[in-house]
Amino acid sequence: MEIELSGDCTTFAGRLKEAMQASGMKQVDLVNAAAAQGVKLGKSYVSQYVTGKTIPRADILNFLAEALAVDVDWLRDGPCAPQPANLPVELASEPDSNSTAADCSECDVLESAPPAPFDLSEPRTTTPTLARPAKEGTPMRQFKKSSKLDHVLYDVRGPVVDEANRMEQAGTHVLKLNIGNPAPFGFRTPDEVVQDMSRQLVDCEGYSNSHGLFSARKAIMQYAQLKHLPNLDMDTIYTGNGVSELIQLSMMALLENGDEILIPSPDYPLWTACATLAGGKAVHYVCDEQADWYPDIADMESKVTDRTKAIVIINPNNPTGAVYPREVLEEIVEIARRHQLMIFSDEIYDRLCMDGVEHVSIASLAPDLPCVTFSGLSKSHMIAGYRIGWMVLSGNKHAMKDYIEGLNMLSNMRLCSNVPAQSIVQTALGGHQSVNDYIVPGGRVYEQRNYIWKALNEIPGVSAVKPKAAFYIFPKLDRERFNITNDEQFALDLLHDKKLLITCGTGFNWGEPDHFRIVYLPRQEVLEEAIAKLSDFLSYYRQ
Ligand code: PLP
Repeated sequence: MEIELSGDCTTFAGRLKEAMQASGMKQVDLVNAAAAQGVKLGKSYVSQYVTGKTIPRADILNFLAEALAVDVDWLRDGPCAPQPANLPVELASEPDSNSTAADCSECDVLESAPPAPFDLSEPRTTTPTLARPAKEGTPMRQFKKSSKLDHVLYDVRGPVVDEANRMEQAGTHVLKLNIGNPAPFGFRTPDEVVQDMSRQLVDCEGYSNSHGLFSARKAIMQYAQLKHLPNLDMDTIYTGNGVSELIQLSMMALLENGDEILIPSPDYPLWTACATLAGGKAVHYVCDEQADWYPDIADMESKVTDRTKAIVIINPNNPTGAVYPREVLEEIVEIARRHQLMIFSDEIYDRLCMDGVEHVSIASLAPDLPCVTFSGLSKSHMIAGYRIGWMVLSGNKHAMKDYIEGLNMLSNMRLCSNVPAQSIVQTALGGHQSVNDYIVPGGRVYEQRNYIWKALNEIPGVSAVKPKAAFYIFPKLDRERFNITNDEQFALDLLHDKKLLITCGTGFNWGEPDHFRIVYLPRQEVLEEAIAKLSDFLSYYRQ
């Protein structure tokens, strides 16, 4: 709706008052709107603008125009006459309780700093609500993503996937081996779980306790007890909308700008992304392909500095499928002990171990250290869409006292996780575990793992370590043979030529362009088709 503006528009103050009247906003409303957007604007300054004593700086001017839903050029210059350049200004004339002329960052003296023209290339973080279109002929400003995202990478759903989606929309069938989402490949949620959720839906309308339902946390605690996690209590178990939400929350609560955190390479890239978004510095330690993809302990320790706060492990691992033996975990605990580090262990695949491999929770070996262990129902229960995960604090709670306050604050701020999904945790964790049938000889995950591992190793120029858990394999390409310098290009070329979608290794913070990840959840016939395409592609591909 167009706002009719009239009256004195020859001065900034006149236009400001007109716009305030037209929008029904009082001075206090502008102050409150500014506070809500994190813009520094005191009461005294607004009053100086309205009385004509000063005019605002460019950024405050932009804010006022946005808040009042008027065109910024009009507010600054007016349609009738150019803004006089010599308004008398006495910034300290009406001091705020704790402001002085010297710290008046919201005002500009026109003589010394005329308002800059609106810079379309300027990054801005506020979201304006322009009820009026910008003045005719003025290009619409651009809304850029926050620069906080500049160094954040999450290529599991990145540009190659965008291209695959574009191709699908254009009618091309793409064979997708890129996302660890069990349901589309016929791995169904156990009936009992679905029925239990539907029965409880009517009781799940309200928010739960911000940490989660008592029954869910009790079941999680009992599961953690079975894994020998020490010093557990109900108050330091948190449910989340998937482990994803809790990774972000746990990093936000811990990291100051510049704090370092050790993360595996390759990793599940959400860890690096969340640590970076929280202002931290992800420092990658290498996992050694020659040693079944176990962490290189010497490399890990060599990367500890006086800014290092924590070590992250992903065990069982995505993307390599490795499961770390007790001795390796003990060595990691020793590093954490020597350097007083927290341990974060992502164990979302802990029930998907094959070949009789036992999964050991690292927290069970570190009763004296602050540990956070993550798990959920997305993978080991094949219930990714319901969105339920958890984190369990254990070991040295005293050292985490302040951190726990931070976690509680962030947990309260998101109110609670999805309550219907919490309501089935007890059912899912107890009783018959249908997933057990998949991971033994004759089971789908087991047989598909065997097939893909053998078939990949039969392709000239490809080698792969046999995964022990989860449903991913991380094969290596002979770089010299294929002359690969850019693995994203490799993924794109494979997509275009063969309509086959995989994820390139650098998407997992792997340093060389010589690996890629395959999700082996599809049925064997589909995997056979994928291997035939890949094999043919690699018979001629040279970058
Ligand atoms: N952690 C790892 C290692 C994963 O591979 C994934 C998903 O692929 C997640 C966490 C996220 O799980 P959720 O569905 O619980 O958010």
